Amino acid sequence: THDIHIIGGGLAGSEAAWQLAEAGHKVRLSEMRGSGEGTAAHKTDGLAELVCSNSFRSDDAESNAVGLLHQEMRTLGSLIMREADRTRVPAGSALAMDRDLFSEGVTAAIEGHRNITLMRERVDALPEGPTIIATGPLTGALLAEAIGEATGKEALAFFDALAPIVHRDSIDMETAWFASRWDKPSLGGGTKDYINCPMTKDEYLAFHQGLVDGEKTEFKEWEKDTPYFDGCMPIEVMAERGVDTLRYGPMKPVGLDNPKTGRWPHAVVQLRQDNAQGTLWNIVGFQTKLKHAEQVKLFRTIPGLQDAEFARLGGLHRNTFIRSPELLDATLRLKTRPNIRFAGQITGCEGYLESASIGMLAGRFAAAELAGEALPPLPLTTALGALLGHITGGAEAATYQPMNVNFGLFPPVAGKKKADRKRAYTDRARTALAEWLSSLPHAAARADISRE
Ligand code: FAD
Repeated sequence: THDIHIIGGGLAGSEAAWQLAEAGHKVRLSEMRGSGEGTAAHKTDGLAELVCSNSFRSDDAESNAVGLLHQEMRTLGSLIMREADRTRVPAGSALAMDRDLFSEGVTAAIEGHRNITLMRERVDALPEGPTIIATGPLTGALLAEAIGEATGKEALAFFDALAPIVHRDSIDMETAWFASRWDKPSLGGGTKDYINCPMTKDEYLAFHQGLVDGEKTEFKEWEKDTPYFDGCMPIEVMAERGVDTLRYGPMKPVGLDNPKTGRWPHAVVQLRQDNAQGTLWNIVGFQTKLKHAEQVKLFRTIPGLQDAEFARLGGLHRNTFIRSPELLDATLRLKTRPNIRFAGQITGCEGYLESASIGMLAGRFAAAELAGEALPPLPLTTALGALLGHITGGAEAATYQPMNVNFGLFPPVAGKKKADRKRAYTDRARTALAEWLSSLPHAAARADISRE
């Protein structure tokens, strides 16, 4: 017998199981690896396997959003962070781990916990009782189908076609301008919904050549023939089809008068608002397999984006995720079937640490619910709260794409010089998290005390 069933023993599922078990709840954790099943990316049967890089990125909690997330997770007693710190290898200001020791440490902690039963089994249907689904970007096909039935198929994506996302305050609005094509009103009624960056013919030709020549990442073997690939063609593939293909596609200038010249530019790069606060803007139609360094170099040749700071770069890879902003409530429950929570990459966060952090929150929310308590809402000014807020409502549902944690997800800090702003974000976050922790109900708070 168990109080809750967690499916998937990756970064998110392991952390969620730990949080629930530490709060005294009996967990059944199902992981299909080790039962003769595998995924196309995992190589071991270990829990929380790092499938690619061995890094949790910056550990700087003063001026980096991911470093702040590390710190918040440590404060909340994260197993993933405990094992990452224990198995750390030298990597400058980044937190990188020995991947085998890390995964072995997580596996041993989970296997050794008296409140967790680890089952090496594949789950193909949605359970009836309290459940957390944390099956990640490579969710088993039958379970993915069941999730598709429960959420509506169109709300389940199989491929990330990631376009780069730019911080609004790094766009040069002396060069770029707000407008919709033909000034046509959008569904929301606005006629200036896009930020437009103009290109002359020479600029366009140089940019086109850069796309064609730029170094690309390869598709993985198992990504090559996937039927889901239709409809998210990388911009460089479009560029290869002909010099003007992009001018008839995502870089179409028609109906966009440049206020400086009163004419249509030769080509236009458009950015669309990506979060409710308007701090993040994505470059429309710019999904790409270009290497990250190439993207930064090339996209900064776009007039108006010469100083662009990227919250996320473009990418294209196999991924399974749901349209969380419309499907999930504020505590990660499926609105139509509240016995089911989602956690990890399948919610549309991006990255090992982000996945683990959403696992941590799903575990905490479920533990509170099982104890008959409600957690006060996490402040949006914390890294955990900002990421959760994005996933459960802050992002635009229709264009929802996976996202790393970054300061663009936080409510903006007012009136600071750029150099001081990062520090202002992290100071504000620490105060808010401390206040939140001191307001926790009895059972939720006890989980912290038990580890001191
Ligand atoms: P996972 O860690 O994948 O865990 C999900 C678990 O569920 C797996 O163990 C799987 O075996 C199990 N499972 C799936 N279906 C079932 C089922 N039906 N029944 C039982 N068990 C099931 N992020 C980074 O930060 N850095 C990187 O370098 C990086 N590289 C990536 C490379 C690839 C190829 C992919 C696909 C993703 C990468 N990511 C990377 C993104 C992402 O952060 C990781 O995939 C992360 O592991 C997601 O955590 P998770 O817990 O949501 O899923």
